[in-house]
Amino acid sequence: MAWKEVPTSTHAQKRELKQTAVARIKQAKAEGTYERKADWGKQYVYKCERQAYERLSNLRFDMDFESLQRSTTAIFADERVRAIDPYPAAKVVVELSTKNGANARTYERRMRFGTARDNFALLHEIAHILTPNDLHGKEFQRMECKLFEWFLGPKAGEVMRFYLGIREGVSDNA
Ligand SMILES: [Zn+2]
Repeated sequence: MAWKEVPTSTHAQKRELKQTAVARIKQAKAEGTYERKADWGKQYVYKCERQAYERLSNLRFDMDFESLQRSTTAIFADERVRAIDPYPAAKVVVELSTKNGANARTYERRMRFGTARDNFALLHEIAHILTPNDLHGKEFQRMECKLFEWFLGPKAGEVMRFYLGIREGVSDNA
């Protein structure tokens, strides 16, 4: 498939990023400072996402507040999501940032969307809600892939797994 033709240097760079993150976690654990929960996976995830973004054909851009809200409600009402949501009874809040150039962010079950108002950003933020203690770690990454597969189709799930280097199938509930 065309989207698998990534220059080897990209893979090498990603490997390096990953190794750096793993080394930092090891060091932090050894020093007893791991509790601070530094978000080592963030740059790695962002980089992988930028590559995947180019390869996805079914993204929805410029979603307004109502469509973000409607998609959120639909996703959290989905049985598969309810089954893995740590707080299925708790409300999820959607907000728009008025700041120019703001990034999407999530705090507990409150998502605030900035400039990127697309379903890619939405699924990323929902993956945070469903993995509340993982920041951008492996659990978050697996969840994100799962959501892309469920809500954007198997091809989208495959693209995300490929770029994030996740091998597990959708049945993996880690
Ligand atoms: Zn994030």
